[in-house]
Amino acid sequence: MGKWYAGVVHSHTTRSDGIFSPDELVKKAEEKGLDFLIITDHNQFCDPVPSSDKILVIPGTELTKNGGHTNIWGLTHPIDNFDCDTYEEWNAKIKSAKEAGATVCINHPFCSQCGWRWEALEPEKADCVEIWNSPQHTDNMTCTAWWQDELRKGKKIPVVGGSDFHRDYYVTDFLANPTSYVYAEECTQEAILSAIRAGHVTISPNVGKTMIEITSGGKMMGDTVKLSENTTVLIKTDNLKKGHTLKVIDNDGVKFEFKARKTGPYSVTLPIDKPGFICAQIEYDMNPVIAPIYIKIDRKISHNENLTKLPPFIYAQTSAIYFEV
Ligand SMILES: [Zn+2]
Ligand SMILES: [Zn+2]
Repeated sequence: MGKWYAGVVHSHTTRSDGIFSPDELVKKAEEKGLDFLIITDHNQFCDPVPSSDKILVIPGTELTKNGGHTNIWGLTHPIDNFDCDTYEEWNAKIKSAKEAGATVCINHPFCSQCGWRWEALEPEKADCVEIWNSPQHTDNMTCTAWWQDELRKGKKIPVVGGSDFHRDYYVTDFLANPTSYVYAEECTQEAILSAIRAGHVTISPNVGKTMIEITSGGKMMGDTVKLSENTTVLIKTDNLKKGHTLKVIDNDGVKFEFKARKTGPYSVTLPIDKPGFICAQIEYDMNPVIAPIYIKIDRKISHNENLTKLPPFIYAQTSAIYFEV
């Protein structure tokens, strides 16, 4: 019997360009109520791994190249060096990291500033993709739409959300925004990383905030369910806020949506009669007073001069569950 563990899968310390030392970051993660923290400094190994008797700390590194950023989790020295200038070299690098036992994640591939620039974006080469990077913004919406299109091609791609934490801004605390909730047998490095590879993940805006779960029989997100005549799927959220919309997405687009008139838990059971994937997300429209300010900031950061209207933003997002005949 497993349970959900709240984690940060992408973070930086003073070993690269973060402002907290590894020990300070661990303390902050403990205070935040996280169950695990993965430290992923740019082109730096996490050795020694900071110790904690409260949370699990997993070593990692962010292989940071002009062609793209890749998190490599689970080993103090997953690769020999950070030399990697071509896509072929990237392939060889992550292959050897995986052979050594590491878990590999393609980070923020649609980031306007440091997205994927290699000639091919092949999610199947990695173990998962970070579709939600740092507090919610338009690049993540582009990435989520791309991911769902890849699923429509029949691929199975586990996803995570990474806060990519470097520092706090004024009074804001961006650690764990977003949080990856991982359903694992126990809170050990092996169990957490294997659950991420299996897609047993749902992304929440922060620790203890709204989560969505999908189950079908005894299976959950990441799993593949054999279709029968009366296969159903249960989508459940612990806290759907007033005005937010729960959307269930499948191969054809939006399969189901529900806009909440009051805040509270919500669940729905839907029949499944054809193969493909199902994932769920909660969407909201940005407050019309804040939206124009947000657009200004987003234009500046994303260099997206054409941005005049914000798309609905995702407040919580699940991995996909798959159905086969
Ligand atoms: Zn990065
Ligand atoms: Zn990063």
